[in-house]
Formats: sequence, C-alpha cells, structure tokens
Amino acid sequence: MPAQPASRVPDEAQQPPDEPLWCKHCDTDQHLSVDSIQSHYPPLPNVVDVTYECNACRYSYEHTASIQRVALVLNRPGVTPGVLQFGGQFLHCGEPMKTQSHELRRIQCLLALGPRPSEQLYETCINTRILGCHCGFRMEIPD
Ligand SMILES: [Zn+2]
Ligand SMILES: [Zn+2]
Repeated sequence: MPAQPASRVPDEAQQPPDEPLWCKHCDTDQHLSVDSIQSHYPPLPNVVDVTYECNACRYSYEHTASIQRVALVLNRPGVTPGVLQFGGQFLHCGEPMKTQSHELRRIQCLLALGPRPSEQLYETCINTRILGCHCGFRMEIPD
C-alpha cells in the first residue's frame, strides 16, 4: 500500500483566513455596508483588507477577506465575476485596476419617436475607459 503523503500543501499556511463579512452582534450580513477596500500587504491574489459597518448596530469591522467574500456583501449585479466595484473603482486580483486608455466608441441605435416610429438609425459616440489588471485582465466601461 502506498504511504500517505507526509506533508500538506505548504502554501496553505501562508494564506490569511478568509472570513466572511459578518456582523457578529446581529448575527447577519444583511445590514452591512462596506466603508473601504484596500490592497492587502503583502499583495496576495484576490485578497483585500476591508472595513465595513453594520447599519443596524453601528459596529465596525476590519479584516482581510477575498474579493468573493466582499462581492457577496457589495452584491452589485452586472459586474463581471472576479471584478469588484467600489465607488468609482474597480478591483481585480485584489488590486485597483488601472486605466490603460480612453476610447471613443460609435454606437448605432434605432430611435423610435412619436406615434409612428420611423426606422432611422442614429449614431452616437460614447467615451469609454479600458481598465487593466496586472494579470492581463481587461475590461471596458463607459466613462
Ligand atoms: Zn449589527
Ligand atoms: Zn487580475
């Protein structure tokens, strides 16, 4: 019979505890609002330092959590998985994404005005921003 591996994955001990954002006082995460999100030091993939407050009992908390944990509370629909939106900032891999370039996009839309919609194509220009993460992930958002 093969012997059991003597050691576990050594990296596991290096990972900070990934605790859920939770109000221990109210025993729920229903009333939490995130105050700040900062890059963890030393930088770790998908890990941030988060401070948040419970709106019900006014307790404040601060600890290290994964992006996924924070996203559960921020719970913003429409944001790409793995990306955290906080205020005007987007985070990926636990770090704020940097603006790489600005683009001017032309979009065409069909405008239906009045009781008898006319099938006319209108062209609009919108400014967008390309955000990039050091891992190579990129996304485009309207500016
Ligand atoms: Zn509470
Ligand atoms: Zn990334």
